[in-house]
Amino acid sequence: MPSPIAHSVSGYVLAKFLPLAKSRMSRRRKWEMQIFYPVFVASVADLDFIPQLITGESFHRGLTHSLIFTLGFSAIIAIALSYWWKFSYKQLVWITLILYGSHLVLDFFTEGRGIPLFSPFTDTFFASPISLFPGVHYSRGLWHPSHLIPLVFESIYSVLVVWGVRRWQKSKFRKKIDSIKNSMN
Ligand SMILES: [Zn+2]
Repeated sequence: MPSPIAHSVSGYVLAKFLPLAKSRMSRRRKWEMQIFYPVFVASVADLDFIPQLITGESFHRGLTHSLIFTLGFSAIIAIALSYWWKFSYKQLVWITLILYGSHLVLDFFTEGRGIPLFSPFTDTFFASPISLFPGVHYSRGLWHPSHLIPLVFESIYSVLVVWGVRRWQKSKFRKKIDSIKNSMN
């Protein structure tokens, strides 16, 4: 699996393309909706490594990496957030599904055993035959030197995607799309 770096940066970048803005928002609400929430949702599946570190039992990449959990989590968290933010429930379910789903996609394309996509119905793990990310092996402990390779790789990935999005945001092509969108509204 990638470390929290790749997951949180992916959530942050994905949020730039999701309809998470309202015309009038306080700075705090903007931070909550456009930064904290996407970063949290894109990374939260890996909090299951905490009970693994404490107990030594195998928890990591279990149910939190399944489709059923993704659906349940998105449906439930959207209830609370739509009430709290006065935002469309339906839209929040979709946005949460996309953000949480990004975690499963990255893990699927990471070196290792893959993810139990259809847990708890089957224990089969699914992984892409082509790995895009080197794996972080939490079972070796939090400070193992082997973590350095994925950390360097993910830092480069993060710089590149953030740079790419910044460029896209400033591009003339994007401004053109925005002006077409505005003229249609
Ligand atoms: Zn994961």
